Amino acid sequence: MRVTALSGGVGGARFLRGLLAHIDRTPSLSDTTVTVIGNTGDDITLFGLRVCPDLDTVLYTLGGAVHEGQGWGRADDGYAVQAELASLGVPPDWFALGDKDFGTHIARSLWLGQGLSLSQVTARLAERWGLPDRGVTLLPMTDIPVETHVVVDQGTGPQAVHFQEWWVRMRAAVPAQRFVVAGMDRAVPAPGVLDAICNADVVLLPPSNPVVSIGIILGVPGIRDALRGTRAPVVGVAPLVSGRPVRGHADACLQAIGVPATSSAVAALYADFLGGWLVDDSDADIALPTGVTSQARPLLMTDLSAAADIAGAALDLGGQLARS
Ligand code: GDP
Ligand code: CA
Repeated sequence: MRVTALSGGVGGARFLRGLLAHIDRTPSLSDTTVTVIGNTGDDITLFGLRVCPDLDTVLYTLGGAVHEGQGWGRADDGYAVQAELASLGVPPDWFALGDKDFGTHIARSLWLGQGLSLSQVTARLAERWGLPDRGVTLLPMTDIPVETHVVVDQGTGPQAVHFQEWWVRMRAAVPAQRFVVAGMDRAVPAPGVLDAICNADVVLLPPSNPVVSIGIILGVPGIRDALRGTRAPVVGVAPLVSGRPVRGHADACLQAIGVPATSSAVAALYADFLGGWLVDDSDADIALPTGVTSQARPLLMTDLSAAADIAGAALDLGGQLARS
């Protein structure tokens, strides 16, 4: 079976880890391959280094090296490099990069500088974390540098700041007026992305942020059309439970695009290609767009087995849709 998933950072990575655990425990899925299309709108250049937070979160999580408490960054990391930079007066101080994490960004920047594409760099990093051995291919959504910017007004008129500055430094507390993705007009899907959608047996949307993770991936010209056109059922997992994000500021992001923070409104964002939608038990009676089959179950990824159960339910729903 060929599974293709779109993914942001922490929510996507935890779901994908559950998916691999479910595949491992299910003998009939032993020859399954998973292609992950990762969001690169969060990417940022810091200290002269290219940082791809969502791709790295997927790599570290699937590689068993993520800081569990944070959900991002490396476990058992230190901050000696950033402390030294701070004492040299080199900003920013609001975006934490651990010492081991710096290794990733140095290698990535070096290889990009040598002319490798982001896909090629990501493949090297994926090798480091053993993804190919687990049947996983991680593709950036595009090799063209793109960056999500957020238009805010802090009393001096509209101003665009990098997504990370809004999300991390401002903690999304300043209302976003809109999101603008610099570079998206030139972006094309990375090699393999459209094929992975067209040739999949099932396409999964993990409970990633519908606006700044999934929404950004859908904005790459060609990706949304591929999802509309694929014969594979598309099954999504709601990122909201009882109208609230489980973590992060998805509600602030939805507000900026004028969409209510409900699992039904998020499903409506995908209505042109969505076949199945898993919602939390607490949202069992919500209305859904026509043509979408929903199923209610516990959606909190409290541990690996809970995440595996959610991923298994998504695959099962995809199987039902494929047969019907
Ligand atoms: P980010 O890039 O690190 O922000 O991560 P993603 O975009 O992949 O995922 C963020 C989304 O995951 C948020 O909107 C959360 O509400 C959602 N999320 C996190 N943990 C859970 C969970 O246990 N269950 C569900 N259903 N959603 C979750
Ligand atoms: Ca992200």
